[in-house]
Amino acid sequence: MRHHRPVPPVVKVEPITTARALRGPFDYLRPDGVGIGSVLVVPFGHRDVVGVVVDVADGSQLADERLVAPRRVLDHDLPPELVALALWMAEEYCSTPARALALVSPPPNAKAKLMWWAQPVAPAPPQDRQPTERQQGLLARLPRAAGGDLPALRRLEARGLVTLSRRPTRRHVHHESVGARRAQPALTADQTLALAEIETAMGEGAIGAAAPKPLLLHGVTGSGKTEVYLRAAATALACDRGVIVLVPEIALTPQIVSRFVDRFGDTVAVLHSKLAAGERHDEWSRLRAGTARVCVGPRSAVFAPIERLGLIVVDEEHDSSYKHEGDPRYDARHVAYRRAEQAGALLVAGSATPRPESIHALRRVRLPARVDSRPLPPVQIVDMRDCRGALHPDTSHALVDAAKAIVLLNRRGWSNFLDCRSCGHAWTCPQCDVSLVLHRSQNTLACHHCGHRERVPQRCTKCGSVSIGRHGAGTERLEHDLAQVGHEVFRLDADVADPGALLRRFEQAPRGILLGTQMVAKGHDFPDVTLGVVVDADGTLRFPDFRAEERTFALVAQLAGRAGRGPGGGRVIVQTLAPEAASIAAAARHDADGFLDGELARREALRYPPFSHLIRIVCSATDAHAVIDAATAVRAALGAIPGAMILGPAPLFRLRGRERAQLVVKGAHRAAAVRAAGAAVDAVAGERARRGVAFSVDVDPQ
Ligand code: ADP
Ligand code: ZN
Ligand code: ZN
Repeated sequence: MRHHRPVPPVVKVEPITTARALRGPFDYLRPDGVGIGSVLVVPFGHRDVVGVVVDVADGSQLADERLVAPRRVLDHDLPPELVALALWMAEEYCSTPARALALVSPPPNAKAKLMWWAQPVAPAPPQDRQPTERQQGLLARLPRAAGGDLPALRRLEARGLVTLSRRPTRRHVHHESVGARRAQPALTADQTLALAEIETAMGEGAIGAAAPKPLLLHGVTGSGKTEVYLRAAATALACDRGVIVLVPEIALTPQIVSRFVDRFGDTVAVLHSKLAAGERHDEWSRLRAGTARVCVGPRSAVFAPIERLGLIVVDEEHDSSYKHEGDPRYDARHVAYRRAEQAGALLVAGSATPRPESIHALRRVRLPARVDSRPLPPVQIVDMRDCRGALHPDTSHALVDAAKAIVLLNRRGWSNFLDCRSCGHAWTCPQCDVSLVLHRSQNTLACHHCGHRERVPQRCTKCGSVSIGRHGAGTERLEHDLAQVGHEVFRLDADVADPGALLRRFEQAPRGILLGTQMVAKGHDFPDVTLGVVVDADGTLRFPDFRAEERTFALVAQLAGRAGRGPGGGRVIVQTLAPEAASIAAAARHDADGFLDGELARREALRYPPFSHLIRIVCSATDAHAVIDAATAVRAALGAIPGAMILGPAPLFRLRGRERAQLVVKGAHRAAAVRAAGAAVDAVAGERARRGVAFSVDVDPQ
């Protein structure tokens, strides 16, 4: 008689570690109630690590005695569809399952902070002497949390009049309201049509069925895209489907967040990096439990644990912040597309300046005019080739006349280049091959790539000359110049600690100039801004990058979109050294279609996205030879990929003390190119000779 051993049920677990070499999943005994998405603590080597269950099975290849049980099961689990999304992401971006799972995992539950809680003792015990007047005042205001008066309350506790106890502070995320609260407006005719198309598409998306085709809401600036998102979200909620709304940066776009909170209240959860760990955890839990059904947040909100998702909105879909810079280098727009497909949800990407990729791939719904039919502001291009100084006289005059203006200069600091007028020595970063930027208020030269800082030199370190030239003006310098105009200047750039507070002060001020980097061109809606100015509009064109044209067009068009949103109307001035550049001229005409047609033709001729898929592979090390060797080896390992071109290795500038070289794969077939790149890098990175060389793979680089 044959004896059948019972097969133990097992779970396949990916430990959350960053080690690239370690490839799971690993088998453990399956505790009751544990399934895909459960989060466990498992013994792993000599330590305990957190891991996610990616699969379940009956029986294991491991011998019974080697199969162990997890230490414990954590409270929070992931919806299985997020596990699937992470595993897909690991492949799609040549990363590891563990790193991808780390991105979708529940935020750790920081212990709630404790505070002292003071209560009066009733009835009060008899006292030898009466409490002082101040003490009676304290007693009258109880019970409450103790603050700076804790020592005084302790004395009352000693007299038996007060009891003090520890209590957890309540964590409640406070969503600040920015801008006047508005009642739900009646839709314009264009909005009604757009919403109808979105609702029809959403209606096609049943759970478990094929997802509806994604839509692009191409609406000019001020056309009321947010109101369309709000109505579409209401429709999804009414059908018991969840909603994700992705926005570029919460600090810079607080208005859209508060519009959602105002309209939907507590069913909105906001996830962003400024939240304390405990707050993030609480918001995440509300979504997981289903008490919140709408999540608004930056790119990582695409991983919100919402079940029965019906709608994903990607607002300002042209914004480069949707690309994640860490490994996996995911693009939230591409992940959103996948997630929508998985969930049978509708994806709506919205922008006034959509990417050529989106025009090519998505069905377009248009909002061709501003609400109230306000015209887009006229744009005047000012040729700066004969002009000395940062501001053209026309610009200065316009600034004097405007009550409120927004000025864009996409460079921080005072001047971006220092050299010695006697010997030509230039100040560069010791870690990176870039020039240092002068920040006058901090009396430092700073590297904008690695953060290196040094004192401003009094004389040349090479020849001792005191004649030092400062070239190029940044926002700090322009702030100084604009102060001469006589208006208050609000400077917004990466040097500002609290952008939200600065934007609120600008909104509330009766007059003023908002000056800053591309941060000022985000989706702000300030109806009393009548003037927009772009200083050095061709600055972005000077980068050697196939997206230079697209970026320049978007920056100028978006800045123009901030002006003239109210009854006061508005105008825009664009200062440039390249007045004939196609992207600038098209933005000045508000001609998105003309620009996109030309840009798509150019991309097709040069085989750039969307007519190919790009993968950038960067090798870096302290030793230049090791870098070139490694890049050459990757190139050899790539071999010939059908339908793909391989460019490089080409040197990149030194960054943070590391020499770098890059290869670019331009492939017609995405999956084949991604697979080849991942395999080549894994093979070369595994060689002994590559110790000290770091490899990064960037699919769809920005
Ligand atoms: P976009 O995102 O397209 O640039 P917004 O959504 O910021 O535009 O809308 C611009 C302004 O128009 C906002 O102040 C908004 O409250 C207002 N608005 C939107 N829809 C309507 C409407 N149907 N009627 C009146 N005002 C509206
Ligand atoms: Zn010198
Ligand atoms: Zn540096």
